[in-house]
Amino acid sequence: MAYQPLRGQKALVTGASSGIGEGIARALGAAGASVVVNYGTNADAAHRIADEMKADGVDAMALRADVSREDEVREMFREMLTAWGTIDILVNNAGLQRDAPFAEMTLEQWNVVLGVNLTGMFLCAREAAREMIRRGVRPEVSRAAGKIICISSVHEQIPWAGHVNYAASKGGVKLLMQSLAQELAPYRIRVNSIAPGAIQTPINRAAWETPEALAALLKLIPYGRIGLPEDIGKAAVWLASDDSDYVHGQTLFVDGGMTLYPEFAHGG
Ligand code: NAD
Repeated sequence: MAYQPLRGQKALVTGASSGIGEGIARALGAAGASVVVNYGTNADAAHRIADEMKADGVDAMALRADVSREDEVREMFREMLTAWGTIDILVNNAGLQRDAPFAEMTLEQWNVVLGVNLTGMFLCAREAAREMIRRGVRPEVSRAAGKIICISSVHEQIPWAGHVNYAASKGGVKLLMQSLAQELAPYRIRVNSIAPGAIQTPINRAAWETPEALAALLKLIPYGRIGLPEDIGKAAVWLASDDSDYVHGQTLFVDGGMTLYPEFAHGG
């Protein structure tokens, strides 16, 4: 039987109808958790993923909510708590890009990115924390009263010209996560981030779709391959499990070495 460190736990993954969120939802399910597959617009994909997980014996359901909307986030949590009673694991994954040269960036582009990538994490973490604080530790499933995992980016550390809104949102996620970790530790709620490097998903299709683009991208990755959603899924399972019970307030970079200043390998 597969190792199932999350058996009996209830998880919610935002933006799980594609890419990294899908990979995380499937990995948490395989590790024994019941999983809400949240989606914003792609109902078909979310229901297909939940159905495939159910066919594999995982308790899964697809729930719609735009994570940047307070009313929709609250309604999604109400539905989850009504169905399953509680939440043990939140993975704040939903995110998007609206790229533009800075001088041409519109307020709309700025607000949409901050609204989903940062405010969305605030709204979901707040609902999750309220329930985790209310309920406290369930020793039969975990040593922690809850685990909140934010999917940040290497761009919480690496500045990114042409993507100022995105980098600002991920920089915000860094101190949102750390401050939350400081505040929620007394409740035994663990809060951490995963900072992916280049992971092959729809968000960055242009960066891997042609051989030329992929070759340029690989110059930024010392380990020499693009990442896959499973790479992040495995890290999320570990961070959600008691195997990482003493890890708190940390960003785990899963990036094939992208943050190692690869251009200095042959210069500087
Ligand atoms: P993706 O586009 O496949 O996934 C993003 C998901 O978020 C989509 O399913 C989308 O529908 C959902 N979403 C967007 N706005 C939403 C909203 N308002 N409410 C609910 N869901 C919403 O791309 P991905 O690469 O899987 O991105 C997932 C996360 O990983 C994002 O936070 C992204 O910033 C981060 N990330 C990705 C990479 C990468 O290389 N792919 C690198 C670093 C960080």
